[in-house]
Amino acid sequence: MLVVRVLASSSEANATLVSDGEVNLLVDCGLGPLLLREALEAVSMQPGDLHAVLVTHHHKDHANSATIRRLAEVDVPVFCSKGTRAGILARPEFRDDQRITKCVRALPRTPLALGSAQVVARPLLHDADQDCHGFRITIGPQRRRSVVAVVTDFGLPFHPDDDVALRADPAAGLSGSNARALLQDADVMLVASNHDVDILRENRRVPASVKRDHIIPFHPSNRQAAALLSEALSVSRNPPRAVALLHLSEEMNTSALALAAARTAVRKHGKPAPSVVVSTPRQAVDVVWE
Ligand SMILES: [Zn+2]
Repeated sequence: MLVVRVLASSSEANATLVSDGEVNLLVDCGLGPLLLREALEAVSMQPGDLHAVLVTHHHKDHANSATIRRLAEVDVPVFCSKGTRAGILARPEFRDDQRITKCVRALPRTPLALGSAQVVARPLLHDADQDCHGFRITIGPQRRRSVVAVVTDFGLPFHPDDDVALRADPAAGLSGSNARALLQDADVMLVASNHDVDILRENRRVPASVKRDHIIPFHPSNRQAAALLSEALSVSRNPPRAVALLHLSEEMNTSALALAAARTAVRKHGKPAPSVVVSTPRQAVDVVWE
């Protein structure tokens, strides 16, 4: 079986369950402990049933301190980059806490093996204090392996149409090629699709500097997410089974706009076109449940 269920996705909290029935993984633990418990109970699971949590970066909507404490209590390891680990351990609430030091572990340089699952991480460009990673999770029994790619919280510090600036910046170029490599030939693609540039341009509360460039720094617009999907699909042998759009801004986006941009991109490549779903901030969404 394969389950990919987005438990929550917004600038407040992010968490996605990936399971093959043998190994239960959570990507990001931004939900508070009570909400995480409720979200897992809805699928007859408890936090202690998780085999590991993978954290993309240090921001609290991806790594909630109270939840990490709860995970440490039930002996669920939290894996992240060395930099993100240092950031989490430096939080005042965790200073000199041996239990947390033991629970939060640095990802190895080689793929991380967790029973029937294997995890590869690659760095993405984001405004976290330390760093940010996307994950490629290969999961399932030998003959029925699935690849689930999670590419959230990444972006560029400049105009989305400015291809020259994009190509000239080595960090952005590396981030883009890493995002594509994580997504290539994945069966399930989870990609952030943060904002719509027209809503951003018209929004009165947006600072002039952000408005001028039509971009929220380090979060992808619908257009950028669609372009990334299109690039990943053009180098994939088979279309994915499902695509999910994550981290939609509640003020600067709508589900319809994000879906329309992604669907146009995947229809160009998909034969048959994969299903595209959009995550919601406070409600779980099944991307794959089979
Ligand atoms: Zn972030």
